[in-house]
Amino acid sequence: MTVKPGDVVRAEEGEIYDIELEADILEANRRIAEENRALLRRYNVKAIDVMGSIGSGKTTLIEGMIKLLKGRYRIAVFKGDLTTTIDAEIISRHGVKAIPINTGKECHLDANLVKKALNRLNLEEVDLIFIENVGNLICPAEFPLGSDKRIVIVSVTEGPYMIIKHPYIFMDADVIVINKIDLADAMRVDVEKLRMDAERINPRAKVVATDCRRGVGVREVIEALNL
Ligand code: MG
Ligand code: ZN
Repeated sequence: MTVKPGDVVRAEEGEIYDIELEADILEANRRIAEENRALLRRYNVKAIDVMGSIGSGKTTLIEGMIKLLKGRYRIAVFKGDLTTTIDAEIISRHGVKAIPINTGKECHLDANLVKKALNRLNLEEVDLIFIENVGNLICPAEFPLGSDKRIVIVSVTEGPYMIIKHPYIFMDADVIVINKIDLADAMRVDVEKLRMDAERINPRAKVVATDCRRGVGVREVIEALNL
């Protein structure tokens, strides 16, 4: 399956404007997120939101999970990016449906864009959707999409303070992934210290250390998601 230009869901100027006109943008987003959640429930589709900085390994983690899960679930991927479809192309090589969502200038996905992407799918033919958010650790925290679970991935190459500097996004996560542990020594980053930061900020989350490139830890992430 390849990604065609017509496959891309785009944020239209007017739509963003419409939402901004609402007195409370976040409230409007929350309402649409609940509609998405209800729609997904109705079709018994699970959706997982994957958040993390640019280069943290979101796409590689999703690829790793697809390899292990595609025999059991019919999978689709929504791929948020400002303007490109690079990641969607990578994902579609695994034979799953990849829908790029181009946000234009927005640095996060919102529930309305996810709703539009959901309209592109026949939900009877899907069991599991991975939603790769735009690479950013700040505002995606404030925009629930209607997913069942949220993963936040951080890599050791981002330095030792990434988790404590962005508490809000980690507070809301169900699973926190510490990636690229194979590079920890070279980066002089202590994986156990990052794990402790994550557990302190969010004692409810499951924390998994991974080397997604080599598939290390990906099975534990899947278990942490109860998939
Ligand atoms: Mg990516
Ligand atoms: Zn944003």
